[in-house]
Amino acid sequence: MSESIMKRTIAVGGLFIECNHLGGRPADMQAFLRSEYLRGADLLAVRAGTVGGMLDRLKNCGHAVRPLLMTSACPSGVITADCYARLRGELLGDLERSLPCDGVLLALHGAAAAEGIDDVEGDLLAAVRERVGDATPIVGALDHHAHVTRTMVESADGFVAWDTYPHRDAWETGCRAASMLDDILTGALRPTMALAKVPLLVSGVLGHTDGPGPFADVMRHAKQLECDRQAYSASAFLVHPYLDADDMGGGGLVITHDDLAGAGRLARELALQYWSKRSELEPDLVSPVEAIARGRAMAAGPVILVETADCCGGGAAGDSAATLRCLLDSGIQQPSLIPIVDPAAAQACHAAGIGAELTLNIGHSIDPGWGKPVNVSGKVVAISDGTFTYRGGIWEGRQGQMGPAARFDVGSIQIALASHPTYEWCGEQFEILGMQPQSARFVVAKNPMNYQLAFGAYCRAAFILDTPGPTPATLRHVRHRRLRRPYFPADQEIPGLQPTVYTHEYHRR
Ligand SMILES: [Zn+2]
Repeated sequence: MSESIMKRTIAVGGLFIECNHLGGRPADMQAFLRSEYLRGADLLAVRAGTVGGMLDRLKNCGHAVRPLLMTSACPSGVITADCYARLRGELLGDLERSLPCDGVLLALHGAAAAEGIDDVEGDLLAAVRERVGDATPIVGALDHHAHVTRTMVESADGFVAWDTYPHRDAWETGCRAASMLDDILTGALRPTMALAKVPLLVSGVLGHTDGPGPFADVMRHAKQLECDRQAYSASAFLVHPYLDADDMGGGGLVITHDDLAGAGRLARELALQYWSKRSELEPDLVSPVEAIARGRAMAAGPVILVETADCCGGGAAGDSAATLRCLLDSGIQQPSLIPIVDPAAAQACHAAGIGAELTLNIGHSIDPGWGKPVNVSGKVVAISDGTFTYRGGIWEGRQGQMGPAARFDVGSIQIALASHPTYEWCGEQFEILGMQPQSARFVVAKNPMNYQLAFGAYCRAAFILDTPGPTPATLRHVRHRRLRRPYFPADQEIPGLQPTVYTHEYHRR
């Protein structure tokens, strides 16, 4: 039997979550159980997302799969110590029972953190390496907001990250990771990997990869390296800026075939190109009061108010009432939609029922440091169990769980109350509560990027708001404790800056 068609056994699993060191609610077991928690045959049945892509490609290559734990949750604060100990133990226990295996494929985020462990992916990859040995290749799929660390690079043989932002290539990324592993196993690839990063922290607002744009240029450069076959694989990273670690940064990760120096040179090029875009990546911000005034002066809506400092997709609690307060103060008479996570207020609406008139405290009940609740009287217009289905993105077809949810109207302001934070993709949360963004004057969105997909086809304008929260649109006013200067945007220039480079090469037995 030739090596290229030899059937191999591949262990597949993962832990996928983006964590926030500045705020948000810690992630416990319930957060993972509510979102995705798969063992054994349940993993083998996955057809979508990163794992779906991995399984499909491995099947086409004729390999057998040993399922490990695969779990994911909505972005949040850090993973609780108990929860991480359990998930880590389950994933590694599954791996130990799968040995010997010929390779390992993991679906990771790259910006997970737990209580007491800043680099969850590095911790997991090092533990996997310890169990499988140096000759068994390990390949990971990452989000392009990954905080890629030295431990991660030195513990794995290859990484691939999303090519798209808004993120919608999870399946393709899984396929690419599995192809890379297959190429390593057949000997077509001896991966030599270099990560180069620069200390640049920016929000996702201008990090899109479609059309013209500062990060789109970096991503196109990375993909051109693959087209030209200068690199086997090239990934570009923005980094999740709401972690706080000593070597934060973004840049490029390049994998070449048996050419470590080439990988280092190309990765450095990507990192320096990213650095050159730093000023273009800083958005213009306006206060909610000014945005509402400018929106009201327009002939028609909808106008999107992007309260990105409270983005559930970046780990915030989604419980800010900062923009709600300004909408209330404005006396707006036209329909205006806003999502707020507030379990007690949602529960009160459920208890009172549709049509009930209530006075509620709304906001800042989960992560109270960022503002004060508003006290308002209004009417329960709709209630829901909060279950919806994502229509696209990395979680396409998956269920989102807002928990008990309600539409609570205060005059013309329609508040979508949820019990749990959920990732905002395409307005699904408004939809299940019967709220219609198309006919609204103002729509508050909290994701810095995905509002363009959700409302871009028909909105008249969008303003990026300057409000308090753990996922702000600029890092200018955030004081990281572990990350030391110099870094952008605290420092606009860093004379003599050289990217930090970490490397790893695969040694076959
Ligand atoms: Zn991301």
